[in-house]
Amino acid sequence: MTITVRFAPSPTGLIHVGNARVALINFLFARKGSGRFMLRLDDTDLERSKPEYAEAIRRDLAWMGIRWDIEAAQSQRLDHYHAAAERLKASGRLYPCWETPEELEFKRKRRLARHLPPVYDRAALALTEAEITALEAEGRRPHWRFKLDHLETRWDDLVRGECHANGATLSDPVLIRADGSYLYTLPSVVDDIDFAITHVIRGEDHVTNTVPQIQLFEALGAAPPGFAHLPLLTDAAGAGLSKRLGSLSIGELEADGIEPMALASLLAKLGTSDAIDVCSEMERLIAEFDLGHVSRATPKFDPAELGHVNARLLHGLAWETVKDRLPEGAGEAFWHAVRGNLTRLSDALHWWPVVAGTVSPVIEDAAFTAQALDLLPFEPWDETTWSAWTERVKQATGRKGRMLFHPLRLALTGRENGPDLKSLLPLIGRDRALERLRG
Ligand code: GLU
Repeated sequence: MTITVRFAPSPTGLIHVGNARVALINFLFARKGSGRFMLRLDDTDLERSKPEYAEAIRRDLAWMGIRWDIEAAQSQRLDHYHAAAERLKASGRLYPCWETPEELEFKRKRRLARHLPPVYDRAALALTEAEITALEAEGRRPHWRFKLDHLETRWDDLVRGECHANGATLSDPVLIRADGSYLYTLPSVVDDIDFAITHVIRGEDHVTNTVPQIQLFEALGAAPPGFAHLPLLTDAAGAGLSKRLGSLSIGELEADGIEPMALASLLAKLGTSDAIDVCSEMERLIAEFDLGHVSRATPKFDPAELGHVNARLLHGLAWETVKDRLPEGAGEAFWHAVRGNLTRLSDALHWWPVVAGTVSPVIEDAAFTAQALDLLPFEPWDETTWSAWTERVKQATGRKGRMLFHPLRLALTGRENGPDLKSLLPLIGRDRALERLRG
């Protein structure tokens, strides 16, 4: 059986790092098992689902290097859900209920007051024909509940281990609202069956849906898939992430200059027993991925940690992979000179004028820079020029350490800090160096 997984966001907002982690883990699991990865848009909530969010989700996944083999939108598959609902009605597993939300809330409170679990009492199943006719005459339309089997349902969760719950402890879930629209449960199971999903890997906020879903698979004559429930990512302070707030959205990280592989490197290892490692190749993340290493502890996402991973990734990137994003003419030597100083690729743009354009030299001590200028070697220059020159300046002036180097850096680059001058100086060249040392 081909491994097939799905990432199933509702296009009601932008995806955040927590959603991206679920998507990435599904993707890595599929690729590791030579399987397929599906993007499923859970857009049955027609009011809140928006095509622009669906587009943003596609763009964010593609940006992260996550490719999908199959795509489907639930809004296009209503016929399949109707057919499944009819089958469940025919087998007596889907039954109509007429209670209003107020009546349900009243029942719930009454059960709690009597120290009973607040599960639905199935009163609708006891209604007579006459009572039903009377309710319909009031203008009420039924919602539909799935009749759970009151027995122990088990699954071996690939993250949480052995799990079980008895259907008797749960309310029969509403599958269809009074207006005929579907809640998430039935469409999800129908799609999982139709697309031959072998593993459902999702956030642990869905653990409570698993028993009803397993029973639904069985009621529809299908074998349930495997399940893995991932602890939800929180922010650095331990608070949950919300896609409605746009907090830590993928677009925001991209705009902040984060490299997609930095994010993927962090998200693939966060909350696992593997050490976080900087990886510039998705293939390596796939090779190293093991769902069994995902831990049950809550992973915390710290933007500062992502910043460090991003910097470390840039420090090791080959020129070929970034050259299209560098200024015209910025060659390998430039990249090697500056990459170790970058936290964002865009920082490289600040260094380009230093070697190829103009800077405003800062002259701290004109007599000293004039003396240094006289000692500047003739070209050709290479990586040894800086030390040969500064050695001569040291001999001539008696200066050493910061007193020697700092004024030269300020004059040559106009900046307090930056890449090694031994690499920058040959790129700056003698003409520019002379001009800058003059001030
Ligand atoms: N649309 C659901 C969600 O975004 C999908 C849950 C699932 O993977 O089953 O949470």
